[in-house]
Amino acid sequence: MKTISLQNTSKKQILKSITEVIKKSKSFFIAGHMKPDGDTIGSGLALASMLKRLGKKVVHCSADEIPYDLMFMKGVSKIKITDKITGKYDCALILESINLRRVGNIIEPSQVKTIINIDHHLAHTNFGYINYVVPSSSSVAELVYEVFTAAKIIPTKEEAENLYIGIVTDTGRFQQLNTNANSHLTAAELLKCGVNASEISKKIFLKKPLSKLKLYGLALSDLKTDINDKFIYVKLTKNMFKKAQANDYDADGIINYCISVPTAAVGCIMKEVNEKTTKISLRSIEKFNLLNVVKKFGGGGHKNAAGCTINENINKAEKIIIKAFKDKLSAK
Ligand code: 5GP
Repeated sequence: MKTISLQNTSKKQILKSITEVIKKSKSFFIAGHMKPDGDTIGSGLALASMLKRLGKKVVHCSADEIPYDLMFMKGVSKIKITDKITGKYDCALILESINLRRVGNIIEPSQVKTIINIDHHLAHTNFGYINYVVPSSSSVAELVYEVFTAAKIIPTKEEAENLYIGIVTDTGRFQQLNTNANSHLTAAELLKCGVNASEISKKIFLKKPLSKLKLYGLALSDLKTDINDKFIYVKLTKNMFKKAQANDYDADGIINYCISVPTAAVGCIMKEVNEKTTKISLRSIEKFNLLNVVKKFGGGGHKNAAGCTINENINKAEKIIIKAFKDKLSAK
């Protein structure tokens, strides 16, 4: 079957094809990447709600739990947390994932007639039948809003809120390098649908649990630097999580402190998963393309925000990652 992507057709035609598949399909599976964030959750919720309004059957899944700070999102309790789903579906809408493995292999291709892949990562694949992949888009929520527009469906207040949360979280409150005119224009359209930006901001960014603050304290008091202070990083050990009684989600955002150091070109969090596995999160300033480094380790993401997994203990992973950045950063 010939697949559809921006490599062989126009954006207008892709959106038309998506609306045609939506029209003719009766049952839908929706999922985004593991360790879901505001964009994956918000985009999925908005799509699920819109499809239900059209009278479709929808199963919305996540391989991992919803972070507690996003539990306030409307409709979130309807997301099925599972590592396997049974049944057959006319259409699977897969959000910001390089392949079905990144979704947690919840579904097999044989269970679906048509896969629609909507993504905004620079590191992506066209694994779907329809691939709407726009790396210049700040978020998948912006692309999902275009699906609404193409289908001539105005988001409800609830759907608009969920899409807005996708944009506001993935752009870091419209402050990150991926923020562009379209992020603001889409957000403006969503505000017209009744979104209260100040309320959402309060819910997402102002309240912080004790465990998160304690983990931040441990992490920031042990901030490390290398490569002439251009590489600023934190090693998050299991012991630190235990001490702070923190979970994975409490670590979100620590990396922004690494990159806030004026000399920093790259910020990094090295998280001990177990004795043989270390998860690496990276952020870079402007021109430094992280994908050139993470691709060596089978990772992915965007130019300025990427990640990978190193199959070594945290101390070995630290040496490997610093070595990988040394040539690239010392020359600059
Ligand atoms: P974070 O540091 O927030 O976990 O991830 C930053 C970006 O890199 C996100 O867009 C995320 O999807 C991507 N990313 C992180 N780890 C991996 C990985 O192991 N594989 C791929 N393909 N992408 C990753």
